[in-house]
Amino acid sequence: MPAFFKPRRRRGPAGPNKNEQKVLRRSSAERDARSAGALKDRFPTVSAISLQFKFITPQQEVYEEGGRKISATDPADFSAPCPGRCGGERGSFDLTEEMKTAIDSGKERVEGRLICQETMNISTVGACDFRLEWKGTITYVAE
Ligand SMILES: [Zn+2]
Repeated sequence: MPAFFKPRRRRGPAGPNKNEQKVLRRSSAERDARSAGALKDRFPTVSAISLQFKFITPQQEVYEEGGRKISATDPADFSAPCPGRCGGERGSFDLTEEMKTAIDSGKERVEGRLICQETMNISTVGACDFRLEWKGTITYVAE
């Protein structure tokens, strides 16, 4: 029987245990990092980031192309919902880790591609397969 079907054992008085508290703290920290926080607060050495992106369908057609410029006072938000058939709620593209790695190593140009692995809906097993190809130019604060 999969673990999530097992009835939850009650642990005495209500309230999260230590481990659950840790998880709660971490997820709210992640949420904060994602939703709030200006670029200059999150990455003080960066003055601007410009992103170019292309969404490509599983049929290899360009679905959408665009760019986004993030300046020092803009939110450091590097994620985008997937425009593919997964509906975008579960599948999303998040470049946060890649940007962080690039900035940590002082790169000025960075690029990558991500493929949405979400299944389209519960009744199918095929992955969404939308692809995001992106390029970023990072401008650092002059010393
Ligand atoms: Zn998707």
